[in-house]
Amino acid sequence: MAKFTDYHLRDELYQALDDIHFETPTPVQARLIPVILQGRSVVGQSQTGSGKTHAFLLPIFQNVDPTQNQVQAVITTPSRELAQQIYQAAKQLASHFPEDAAPRLGLFVGGTDKARQVNQLKSNQPQIVIGTPGRIKDLYQSGDLAIHTAKTLVVDEADMTLDMGFLNDVDAIAGAMPEDLQMLVFSATIPQKLQPFLKKYLDNPVVEEIPVETVISSTIQNVLMDTKGKAKDELIYNLLTMGNPYMALVFTNTKERAHELARQLKERGLKVAEIHGGIQPRERRRTMQQIQRLDYQYVVATDLAARGIDIPGVSLVINDGIPNDLEFFIHRVGRTGRNGASGTAITLYTPDEDEKVSEIEKLGVKFEPMTLSKGELKPAPDRRRRKQRTKSTQKLDPTMIGMVKKKKKNVKPGYKHRIKSEIERDARNKKRIEEREHMRAKRKANKTR
Ligand code: AMP
Repeated sequence: MAKFTDYHLRDELYQALDDIHFETPTPVQARLIPVILQGRSVVGQSQTGSGKTHAFLLPIFQNVDPTQNQVQAVITTPSRELAQQIYQAAKQLASHFPEDAAPRLGLFVGGTDKARQVNQLKSNQPQIVIGTPGRIKDLYQSGDLAIHTAKTLVVDEADMTLDMGFLNDVDAIAGAMPEDLQMLVFSATIPQKLQPFLKKYLDNPVVEEIPVETVISSTIQNVLMDTKGKAKDELIYNLLTMGNPYMALVFTNTKERAHELARQLKERGLKVAEIHGGIQPRERRRTMQQIQRLDYQYVVATDLAARGIDIPGVSLVINDGIPNDLEFFIHRVGRTGRNGASGTAITLYTPDEDEKVSEIEKLGVKFEPMTLSKGELKPAPDRRRRKQRTKSTQKLDPTMIGMVKKKKKNVKPGYKHRIKSEIERDARNKKRIEEREHMRAKRKANKTR
């Protein structure tokens, strides 16, 4: 098994890893850290939750030269929240360096005070730039941020960057950088439309497809629930309150619905966080921090706003409706049951959405039909007993099928050791969850005092 010490990193980085209790590299880190350290370009097909942030941050921190007062690495990411998340991880690493040798970080995202940033840049250029493509491009084009000196460009969540129409900005950023640029592209899927960009900038990259088992975990209960004839908001309220979920995430298809549902749930007395495009960025950032601090037990979100954001310990995911883009279904359900923890995903549907359910099943997803009765989930008749399966016309994306398929379990030598470490990892996770529960209870007690 790979060890962080295999990479011969700076002592400061080992102290930082120790501090956050990262004991062994994740598969993405084990595969990519050595090649990134060598200076190679990489396409990492990976998800949030795979540990990709440290797969690129550790080599960047290892290679940054504190004596050079210029931009050495640029990290772009399509959402402000993600940029903030990466910035926090980078700050944690930097905090272990001596003050005069700590890499200088710059966070540049839309919706923040540009004039102040321009002023700061006049006296000092950051060595590591983290931000959203539009703001970084603006600051470069106005001559304030000198990114042409960067040796490494990270394009995080490339597919989402493309979806949100920011790829041109990234193109402008990459175009400003040296010919022999090291480019690290991370993306959950590699859509066809991304290929011209990859071809333009990447010469013989290391392409790593991350094991797909991380996406939909086999440890979750995957429930399908017919809402026909039921009051949906009431049902969602009952599902959220039937147990005491550690963290519940409800996904809606539109920001209007997210807002309306959150309002309904708040009216019934639940403390609900909203993450969707209708919430101002500043407010969204604050809410995200509160979610990370476990101030909320319930979150209502839309896909784009929540995608890529790591919310640890999600124990219940509710799909208010089936998303139009089936890939979102996989991302939503993949939020629970991380790292072998248990979880429940409940997808609400009406019989006229049967075709969409069949499409999801074709990806290899297995649903348990259930109903809520007297505060408990009870098995319900299979919907196929009532309805003939409809034929589909939509073509399935092989990447998505791959995301769902479980890895074949081969029993190889050493499996006992692996099982043992899996059990230990599970126990560690549970302990972390217990500690958080304890913290939450303590905070609650303090508040009511
Ligand atoms: P990421 O995919 O980079 O957003 O990381 C997902 C989660 O895994 C974050 O909460 C990280 O702090 C955590 N993580 C990343 N690498 C490791 C590691 N080697 N050991 C333990 N946890 C990790």
